[in-house]
Amino acid sequence: MTEATGTGATVTVAVLGTGIMGAGMARNLVRAGFAVTVWNRNADRARPLAEDGAAVADTPAAAVAEADVVLTMLFDADAVDEVMAAALPSVRPDALWVQSSTVGVEATERYAELAGRHGLGFVDAPVLGTRQPAEQGTLTVLAAAAQAVRERVTPVLDAVGARTLWVGERPGDGHRLKLVANAWVLSITTATAQSIALAEQLGLDPARFLEVISGGPTDSAYAQLKGKNMITGELSPAFPLAGAVKDAGLILAAIRAAGVDDRLMGAVHALLATAAEAGHTDEDMAAVVHATRPGP
Ligand code: NAP
Repeated sequence: MTEATGTGATVTVAVLGTGIMGAGMARNLVRAGFAVTVWNRNADRARPLAEDGAAVADTPAAAVAEADVVLTMLFDADAVDEVMAAALPSVRPDALWVQSSTVGVEATERYAELAGRHGLGFVDAPVLGTRQPAEQGTLTVLAAAAQAVRERVTPVLDAVGARTLWVGERPGDGHRLKLVANAWVLSITTATAQSIALAEQLGLDPARFLEVISGGPTDSAYAQLKGKNMITGELSPAFPLAGAVKDAGLILAAIRAAGVDDRLMGAVHALLATAAEAGHTDEDMAAVVHATRPGP
């Protein structure tokens, strides 16, 4: 195993959660020279990483026992609570916890306290980017951590992302910016679905909508990508609808706590939830188009 720090010592990273995002992040950590141990609740999703050079652990406790850095990339705060309750007693007291699952501000503040009680450094590190950037190591990391731990964690963040934006020292600030950015992502996806459905119902080829905005000031690569998926029905998950519903709930909570008008995000959340309830939970969030089309 090569070293990843330039100091001669091999740094060990435990990745807890090897779903769409965690698997890609773990592969890039291996490529960058870290010793990587992975764990996933459904072991079938962790095992393929052995071929890439990761060690596959049977339990969260076994995964973190030797780790210098513990990276969590789980679905939500309930999952992080459960997995870290099992892992924390085995984490080395000088280790760093990099928390990248999208869990919102309240949970992040709770985890920073929990890490402090165990003597661990804590890095609030949600990411922007979906399956492909996770696989290619080109995510944007929105990081917040005390100055003292930044140097230690930088090589890890550099391995998973193309860019780390240090948002602040206060844990929660990474997540605050993540919620702001995801409000935009979910709104633009839902607005794209609305225009696609409207074009269809007005008897137009919906591809004409993408054509007419193409290259203009209201175009976006995301509208083009998700819009094509909505039209073709190719909805294999890059950003699963279940995650979009969860994130819209976290954004709504932040919007209400901040006293910002919640009607737009309320509608986005309702449309995403309607598509999920109609059975599209495991598809890409582009499946929100089903909620914007006329009902049966
Ligand atoms: P995913 O493929 O659905 O993976 C979710 C992971 O969480 C899996 O490892 C799953 O384990 C695990 N998990 C769920 N509930 C659990 C529980 N109760 N106990 C233990 N493990 C549990 O989702 P993903 O897209 O990789 O998302 C992971 C995180 O990244 C989420 O917080 C998401 O919001 C965030 N994120 C996603 C994207 C994206 O575009 N996909 C972008 C930025 C951030 P099993 O495999 O056993 O179910």
